[in-house]
Amino acid sequence: MITLSSWGRVEQHLHEVIPLNDPGKVPALISRHGPGIAYGMGRSYGDVCLNPGGVVWNTTGLNHLIQFDDERGLLRAEAGVLLRDIQRLFIPRGWMLPVTPGTQLITLGGAIANDVHGKNHHVQGSFGDHVRRIRLVRSDGEVIECTPHLNPAWFSATMGGLGLTGVIVEVDVQLRRTEGPWLESETISYANLDEFFHLADSSETGWEYTVSWIDCLSGAGGRGIFMRANHVADQSHAPTKGVKVFPFEPPISLVNRASLQLFNSVYFNLKSLRVGRALIHYEPFFYPLDNILEWNRMYGPKGFFQYQGVVPRVVGREALRAMLEAISHSGEGSFLAVLKTFGDRQSPGMLSFPQPGVTLALDFPNRGKVTHKLFERLDAIVREAAGRLYPAKDGRMPRSLFEAGYPRLSEFMQYRDSGISSAMSRRLMGS
Ligand SMILES: Cc1cc2nc3c(=O)[nH]c(=O)nc-3n(C[C@H](O)[C@H](O)[C@H](O)COP(=O)(O)OP(=O)(O)OC[C@H]3O[C@@H](n4cnc5c(N)ncnc54)[C@H](O)[C@@H]3O)c2cc1C
Repeated sequence: MITLSSWGRVEQHLHEVIPLNDPGKVPALISRHGPGIAYGMGRSYGDVCLNPGGVVWNTTGLNHLIQFDDERGLLRAEAGVLLRDIQRLFIPRGWMLPVTPGTQLITLGGAIANDVHGKNHHVQGSFGDHVRRIRLVRSDGEVIECTPHLNPAWFSATMGGLGLTGVIVEVDVQLRRTEGPWLESETISYANLDEFFHLADSSETGWEYTVSWIDCLSGAGGRGIFMRANHVADQSHAPTKGVKVFPFEPPISLVNRASLQLFNSVYFNLKSLRVGRALIHYEPFFYPLDNILEWNRMYGPKGFFQYQGVVPRVVGREALRAMLEAISHSGEGSFLAVLKTFGDRQSPGMLSFPQPGVTLALDFPNRGKVTHKLFERLDAIVREAAGRLYPAKDGRMPRSLFEAGYPRLSEFMQYRDSGISSAMSRRLMGS
């Protein structure tokens, strides 16, 4: 038994860890050792990859690239391969992943099971939009090949399926052409949400990547920094910085109201001084926190929560104002506050998180009841706005909010594997 947690480190429990290294042996292994749940890099924040006291199937040994069609950019790989390894190997060869989240230290299987999104949802959709085939192993040993056309319902249930339809062992993913690792970025400061929406709307046609940081302590106004970027043909070289490791785990969280107020104000003012255009390598632009390994330890032994919701565009402004006000009044705060818009497109999975609208993601140190009280207020705003929360970031949403936010849940339940169970599935689906 090994103590495992997810990225938020709120829950730390003993698990029986069964390593999966050979795709051919997965059917026998998972039917013998279960019920369990697949565990990739544990970069989800809450309990989607946890099964306290029970089995997890560690997929990181399924780490082989199988074949690559360099005319079409189609990659076949085992599901434990890291996005980082794909990016570093293929970008110099002129291909890259069309969608990547804010960390590249995740597995292909994890990217599919949460149908992750990047900073270019309005152009490229979510990760599942680029998956062409998966091989899924059920806990009774059955192997199902799925594509958008072959067993399409299995395919759609598994994109964003929270690991609950089977263990993905093999993936075909369509890469996109790229000229190289460099992007041209533009940084702009905004004074309020109206300015944010104006920037987001006016960037949709000319810019592939858009994201913003919002100062959630600035009240309902919502000042922030907007960043947008495009790939560039000019690929002149510059060295990238090395990786740092967060040096220690402090006995209490280093993130509190005073440090946040200071950080947010300094960050806003520094970034405001550096507005304008710059050439930037894709790694610091896409994955700004990967440069500090284990940064999650700065929240101390109680860990932290991430709260990420999406609300439809028509009510977005009002809902965001209400959320920012609630946060400001609560005395809680977040320096990792990311605001971005999703494009107007259907997601490929029955339980995919992205829906047209605006999404806000915030990190909060775990301060027990006080933090949960704020979440209840935020839940009410999301619910009223007909929005939903992101399971990849969640470890506490009430079942009723999950059911309200995911109208295809009952359809999904037909494809659930009864030999697969996680702390999240028990909390939100009853088993
Ligand atoms: C710094 C940071 C930034 C992030 N930014 C974003 C972002 O911008 N956008 C976004 O969408 N997400 C983001 N995330 C969340 C992260 O991308 C997802 O949680 C991702 O799913 C983690 O992948 P993993 O390999 O660590 O999987 P885990 O966290 O280990 O597992 C996640 C889910 O995948 C399932 N799973 C894993 N492997 C398999 C498999 N082979 N077969 C079936 N199921 C499997 C697990 O059972 C679980 O349900 C971020 C996370 C961090 C830490």
